[in-house]
Amino acid sequence: MHTELCRVLEEGIVETKVSYREKTGMFSFDPEKSSPEKITEFINATGQYRVAGEIPEEQGEGPELFDIIIIGGGYIALEIAQAWQRLGTKVTLLQRSSHVLSKQTADVAEEIMRHLRNEGVEIFTGLTFQQVEEQEGKVVVRTLQNKNELTFSAEQLLVSTGIRPNTSDLGAEKIGLRLSGSGHVEVNEHLQSNISHIYAAGDCIATPAYVYTAAYEGKLSVENAFTGTDRKADYTAFPWVVFTDPQVAGVGLDEQEAESAGIPYDVSRVDLSDVPRSLAAFDTRDFVKLIRNPGTDRLLGARIIVHEGSELTIELSLAIKYGIPVKKLASSFHAYLTLSEAVKLAAIGFEKEMKTLSCCVV
Ligand SMILES: Cc1cc2nc3c(=O)[nH]c(=O)nc-3n(C[C@H](O)[C@H](O)[C@H](O)COP(=O)(O)OP(=O)(O)OC[C@H]3O[C@@H](n4cnc5c(N)ncnc54)[C@H](O)[C@@H]3O)c2cc1C
Repeated sequence: MHTELCRVLEEGIVETKVSYREKTGMFSFDPEKSSPEKITEFINATGQYRVAGEIPEEQGEGPELFDIIIIGGGYIALEIAQAWQRLGTKVTLLQRSSHVLSKQTADVAEEIMRHLRNEGVEIFTGLTFQQVEEQEGKVVVRTLQNKNELTFSAEQLLVSTGIRPNTSDLGAEKIGLRLSGSGHVEVNEHLQSNISHIYAAGDCIATPAYVYTAAYEGKLSVENAFTGTDRKADYTAFPWVVFTDPQVAGVGLDEQEAESAGIPYDVSRVDLSDVPRSLAAFDTRDFVKLIRNPGTDRLLGARIIVHEGSELTIELSLAIKYGIPVKKLASSFHAYLTLSEAVKLAAIGFEKEMKTLSCCVV
């Protein structure tokens, strides 16, 4: 965010002097006594902090293998669980919802859970957490699953249950800067807060919390604040990735989101066993799923579970952003023996039965 701010300043988009104070910034003026005209525009980008436990430090000489309980089933929990399991740690992942990646549909979540379980990660879902305590040097986590008591114990515990915006020590209340119940700075579509010369960007506002959304919001808010533009933040085509192996990636809406938005949808799914590249690579795990509006033939979204599948999100993100009809995706060249043929095949699959197609279909 700071880098983005500096770049925008260097490029001369903004002609003003901006300084920031690392870590210690706090709103301190009294709005009763200070005149707003004297205050330059202000971008708040104080990020978030993890609502999580500490990663244990390595003890003694050489790596020590330990067993660990991870509470949480979001993307950070899954990435860390798989990494540590592969390093030889015994990982038990405990999740409150009925599946990991709780906002995703069950088919996507079940698929990544299957992979992690195959690698040895123990996953328990649908848990109600009762108590965490230390007993004889071990962490003991007591839970209920369908009213049955389940107790877990391990040497280490990592809590990865979400993030909170880093706004509690800003002094927002001193100037009347409105925060939401979750502590996020409340902003409108232009990223402007209730105080007209204060904008906010990044993890401290309730938008998707990623590096690239923070950079986008940083640029947009600086431009809006300093150049008088009135651009709105738009997240309809933003892609996201869970860096497990295989990756879980998505863009736009899934079926349940289309349903709750009242948008008609149909779904085409291609399994990698139908994709030449995956057959050649002897890795036919998983699938690409496209969701479209059948009335308009516009892509609504996609969900992908594929090794390095995040690369496929970019074509799909552009298709959503620029309203490219699914028929055009289906009839565009996709080089033979690339993973991107999965997108073409899934696009064709809305109209034709995939199994009957030969390679290089148009
Ligand atoms: C484990 C993990 C993995 C992640 N992986 C990815 C990933 O693969 N891809 C991705 O896109 N995103 C990822 N993210 C999310 C990404 O890191 C954040 O969304 C991004 O860093 C947010 O940027 P930001 O500038 O809003 O906040 P930050 O990067 O947190 O920066 C906030 C800055 O504000 C400063 N600050 C705080 N309070 C004050 C104050 N009072 N005064 C002055 N300065 C202050 C802080 O010191 C810090 O320098 C990951 C996050 C975690 C925790």
